[in-house]
Amino acid sequence: MNIISDRKDTDEIIPIWKDTYLQGYITISFNDIVKKLGKPITNVHWKITARWCGTKIIDDGNNKIKSIVYTIYDYKDQDRERNVRPWQFYMWHIGGHGKRALDVVRELFPDAKILSEEEYDDMIMRNTKNRCYGCNEEFFLIDLERMEYGKGRSALYCKNCVSRLKENKI
Ligand SMILES: [Zn+2]
Repeated sequence: MNIISDRKDTDEIIPIWKDTYLQGYITISFNDIVKKLGKPITNVHWKITARWCGTKIIDDGNNKIKSIVYTIYDYKDQDRERNVRPWQFYMWHIGGHGKRALDVVRELFPDAKILSEEEYDDMIMRNTKNRCYGCNEEFFLIDLERMEYGKGRSALYCKNCVSRLKENKI
């Protein structure tokens, strides 16, 4: 990927993040982003207190010039009452029109931990525990399966309880 042009966007009238959506996450401090991208745009959305946004025009080879929009922002995490911002090694959202946005952010911050949305979901599944609705034992989410147990009702069950449920034993 060869970056041939770089534009940062602080224009609030024509937001280039229009129609972008969540692609992944970057764990980095507020100050490290400012060092690279300057001050964020603020107060553009009630769920977001800071947002950086830019476009990279890249030459994909064979004269395929592409414009990749990336945006980095906090999301529904601000403590507006006390104006406390958890911005030291905060996990920011990365938005874009596709996964290429993650490549652009990776180039901007090669030392930061960046996860795609799928990698993040997988991490949560492997590290978060929940109780099985059948036996009430704790399991990691990855070992639980959502099963229907009544009309329109479902819950998380462990593998043991799933097979018992399938045999109608519980
Ligand atoms: Zn169980």
